[in-house]
Amino acid sequence: MLRCPEAHEEAFLVLSTGEMVGRMVRSGLLGCPACQREYPIVQGVAHFSASGTGGELTPRPTNAVAAGAPPRSPDAQTLQALLELSGPGGYVVLVGSAARHAVGLAGLMGGIHFVGINAPSDVAELPVLSLLVCDKLIPLRRAMARGVVVGLDRVAPPWIDEALRVLLRGRRLVIEDERATPGAGLKQLAVGEGLWVGEKT
Ligand SMILES: [Zn+2]
Repeated sequence: MLRCPEAHEEAFLVLSTGEMVGRMVRSGLLGCPACQREYPIVQGVAHFSASGTGGELTPRPTNAVAAGAPPRSPDAQTLQALLELSGPGGYVVLVGSAARHAVGLAGLMGGIHFVGINAPSDVAELPVLSLLVCDKLIPLRRAMARGVVVGLDRVAPPWIDEALRVLLRGRRLVIEDERATPGAGLKQLAVGEGLWVGEKT
């Protein structure tokens, strides 16, 4: 499901694993056969903004929004309902501070894998949560997610457009900012309580 963030066709990446803990890759290298770039996995986090051995890693964002959950953050049940996540299977992408919802959502539903993009530094990799860092785009293939949540710290471009790209058609996007004004390709379903909810058309 990963893609290289460089401007070429979406191609698969080749993983060389270093240290593993269960099925989680703690360290390793992702290689792109299209452009030959390599992306390091360091302490369980795949870094797409750095290359080579990870000597120049982009620091993970710290708590810009304040400690803990952002203001008026929805609870897991509300998010589950808004995303229409009923059965198991598939991927849910959590952008920025929205990665904090992975534990709550996973507690409600087994069998969904969560992918955190540019998660706050206190969010750790889990068997149900993979963490990716990239300053350019969401390093995932188009139309792979059955739901996406964009945190308040990532409502600026390009993150909402990127959220729409990785979302499956007919599935839902929740933005943790009711003032969000997404462009074409999304049908607005609800706005309020600090949230914007839409469906990919
Ligand atoms: Zn590439």
